[in-house]
Parts: sequence; structure tokens; C-alpha cells
Amino acid sequence: MATHVSRSARAVGCLVGGAVGDALGAPVEFFDLNEIRRQYGSRGILALEPNSAGLAHVTDDTQMTMFSGEGLLEMRARERSREQCSAAGRRPVDNTGMRPVLEAYHRWLVTQGSRPETGPGTVYAGMREDAVSAVLSAGKLVHVPRLRARRAPGATCLEALQTGVHTTPDRPRNNSKGCGGVMRVAPVGIIAADPVSAFRLGFQLAALTHGHPSGYITAGVLAFMISMLMDGEDLARTAQQAIAVARNPALHGGCPTAPGDSGEETARALEQAIGLSASGAPATPETVERLGAGWVAEEALAIGLFAALTFPRDFPSAVRLAVNHSGDSDSTGSICGNIAGAIIGAAAIPRLFCQELELRREVRRLAIGLNDARGLTADV
Ligand SMILES: [Mg+2]
Repeated sequence: MATHVSRSARAVGCLVGGAVGDALGAPVEFFDLNEIRRQYGSRGILALEPNSAGLAHVTDDTQMTMFSGEGLLEMRARERSREQCSAAGRRPVDNTGMRPVLEAYHRWLVTQGSRPETGPGTVYAGMREDAVSAVLSAGKLVHVPRLRARRAPGATCLEALQTGVHTTPDRPRNNSKGCGGVMRVAPVGIIAADPVSAFRLGFQLAALTHGHPSGYITAGVLAFMISMLMDGEDLARTAQQAIAVARNPALHGGCPTAPGDSGEETARALEQAIGLSASGAPATPETVERLGAGWVAEEALAIGLFAALTFPRDFPSAVRLAVNHSGDSDSTGSICGNIAGAIIGAAAIPRLFCQELELRREVRRLAIGLNDARGLTADV
């Protein structure tokens, strides 16, 4: 008998699940398959690897996911305040679009020991130093000591954020389609008002650092999928609809200069993952590697989706399949964990499997907050 999974349980499952997948993949991120098997045996890494303090470390994927969440909550608060002003007939405060998320990412940059530029052309141009410092110390996360750790942060994110420039899909500053956009987007699917809003918010969030359409459209697609799964939709149907969204230029309205076929790579990667899952190919690393290595966004999504489709109700098996390969194991594990966790909910992630996860309480609290604040639209 299918048990009912509440929306808040799905939200917690999605973010805690992503963090577990991230932590499981972290020790083998830079190992090829031979090295993984040499160190962990023929079945690869199977359980979290706690340090001497008993904690399994997450990486930049979870750190940035958390800062996405913090920025999105601020966006939602400002959206509510605009709604209240207009209902009361008062002049609404300006719509600052994705700016709260960009500022949250700048605070993540601070946790990595760096800072955004503040000169002309940046979002801080003309601001006094104390006002910039106030932005960079706002919110709770930047003050969490455990988040002040460098866990192989992605070069694209570091470099893009250091410029202090607010980039958008139509004003990109690089041509990266690395998976650093898609691996941090799951909170969008929890807080968005509906799946199409999630798609549009998701690709704008990723475009803050990644300029290639496959980098940001893939992120929009994962946000769309999480939003569908939060509503209890089945994964196979969600994946089919995600292909249609990737191929629908009318939905790419926030990126007017993106070429007409800009969602094509994403759509093909999804089709490949679905086809491989339907083919009955064995659930092995060799099968996973037919989808690529996951260093680029669409491959990372394809691997995460394939693993979740293969083990839709068996969370440990899904994330083990997602991390044991020669590619970007923590990111593919994180994406798989987001998807699988949103399907089954937090209670169905075995406690023994994730009890050593660091930041678990903070991630859980954030997921509940995002779900409670649900309703963010793509009106940015
Ligand atoms: Mg990472």
C-alpha cells in the first residue's frame, strides 16, 4: 500500500537526500572507477565516511544549495512585502529580482575566504563599505562555523561571483555549462509557486554563474522536476514533462537571446537517461558511464535521474549507483539524492545511512522554511 508523503517530508527528503548523496560521493569525487574499486572493493563506496569527529562532510554542492535557499527566502519575503503594499494601495518596494540570491552567493564566497569586487559595474558600485559589509554579513548561514570550510569549490562559481557582477541569461560573462548551476537549484523546486515558475527561477539562478544555455536550462529543468515531485507526481511522468519543458522556447522567455535549440542538449540527456533505464541495462558503473561523467550540467542531471529511476523507492541503492563512477560523484550523488528524497520523503531515508551527516539539522530547518514560504513566482 502506498503511504502518503507530506509536502514538508518531501522538502526535507529532497534537501537532506541531496546532502547525503553529496557526502557519499565526496570521498570519490576525484577517483576514477579503478581507483574507487581498488580502495572500496568491487561494489564501490557504500556508506558515508565519517571523520574522527563522527561527521561525514558535505561539499560545495550542499553549501551552495543552502545559500540558494537563504537567498530564495529573502526573495519571497520581498515578494510578499510588494503584494502587501499593492493590496494596501501603497507604492511597492522595487522588485530586485534574483539579487537576494546573488547576495547570498556572495556570502558563500565569504565562507570560502574570498569577496566580490565592489567597483564600477558591480552590484555594489557606489555603496559605502559598511553597507557592503552589511550585505555580506546578513542572514544566518555566513555565521555558521561549519559552513566556513572549503570543500573543492567549483572554479566557475568562484570566478563568476568574485566579479561582483549580476549576470543574466542574456548577459552572460562566461560560456560554462559545468554542473555548478544545477547542483544547487533544488530549493527552487520547493519554494516556487508552480513547476513553470520553478523552471524560470531555476535557470535564472544558475545563470548568475553559468553562461552556457545547457548550464542554466538544465538547472531550470531540475527545479521544474523537484516542483512536480513535491506535488506527488510520479517520476517517469515528471521526466517526460521535463523533456517538453527543455524543448519549449516559449518557456525560455527570461533568456531572450538564447538560441532556439538551447534546451536540446538537456532534452537529449534526459531522453538518454530514460531510455537507458527502460532498456533494462544492469545497474552498474559501466552503465552509468554511458551517460557521461557529470562534470557538465546535462550529464550530471542524466546520471542523477537514471539512478533515481533505477531505484525509485530504495534511497541507498539510488545514491550508491549515482556516485560510483569515474566522474563528478558528489554532484551526481547530490542531484540523485534531491530527486529520490523528494519522492520518498525524509522518513524513508534510512537513519543508519545518514546519521553522521554534518549540517543535517540546518539543512532540515531550511527545507521546512522553504516549504512553509512556498509561493514564489517567476515575476522577476
Ligand atoms: Mg562538490
